[in-house]
Amino acid sequence: MEKFTFKVVIVGGGTGGITVAAQLLRKMPTLADQVAIIDPSTKHYYQPLWTLDGGGASKKENSVRDMKSVIPDGVTWIQQSVEKFFPDQNKVRLNNGTSVHYEFLVVATGLEIHWHKIKGLKESLGTKSVCSNYSYEHVDYTWETIRNLKSGTAIFTHPASPVKCGGAPQKIMYLADDHFRKTGVRDKINIIFGSANAAIFDVAKYRNELEKVLVRKNIDARFSTNLVEIKPDE
Ligand SMILES: Cc1cc2nc3c(=O)[nH]c(=O)nc-3n(C[C@H](O)[C@H](O)[C@H](O)COP(=O)(O)OP(=O)(O)OC[C@H]3O[C@@H](n4cnc5c(N)ncnc54)[C@H](O)[C@@H]3O)c2cc1C
Repeated sequence: MEKFTFKVVIVGGGTGGITVAAQLLRKMPTLADQVAIIDPSTKHYYQPLWTLDGGGASKKENSVRDMKSVIPDGVTWIQQSVEKFFPDQNKVRLNNGTSVHYEFLVVATGLEIHWHKIKGLKESLGTKSVCSNYSYEHVDYTWETIRNLKSGTAIFTHPASPVKCGGAPQKIMYLADDHFRKTGVRDKINIIFGSANAAIFDVAKYRNELEKVLVRKNIDARFSTNLVEIKPDE
């Protein structure tokens, strides 16, 4: 009979969930067979690599593993999604109706990206030079677009909302700048960084250095500037 009670239940088998499970088992081997990860996805994505994929330094296929292969030994993978939490009863309900009980719960379900909140983005993403590294499906298009740009304006944006990896919008910009320089087209391309933040980075130590990078790379940085609409035909 399948077991549906665990000492620790982790919802989400992304970077957060897998890391928590691995650390728990490493520090407390006696937890073996008492930890479950609940995630319906057959694939696990190492998203930090998408910056390098978009910048042409790696292939997106390198960021994917079968979920089964990254579940630590001693951890039970329940391949379902959690539909409802019942914190007063220490249980979650799965989409197949089963309840899973726990003593401790870790919620690591990641972020959902609301592309539709920026007018024109959802319908133009992956076409007409509109790119994002925040999705496996579109990351190849970033590199295609950077590679094919020989002159004009390249705009990189950082939104007024929490993002996965606050550095990602800048990192792809520096990789693009590097590519434009190596291929001899940098002087024909104007790079603009439009950020909703007030400065290039919140932490002074890094901000001071990054401000020098912006000057050195001749990047037109515009702060407190939030992207609200894309008109790809214009
Ligand atoms: C382009 C890019 C560059 C980045 N660069 C860096 C970097 O350099 N350094 C750094 O530290 N971070 C970086 N990050 C951020 C980092 O990748 C994320 O913070 C991290 O992947 C988040 O892990 P997570 O486990 O919270 O979520 P995810 O990895 O998104 O995993 C969430 C999991 O939860 C599952 N799930 C969702 N809903 C349910 C449900 N109802 N029931 C069960 N399971 C569910 C999903 O199937 C998924 O497997 C980057 C991110 C991006 C996109």
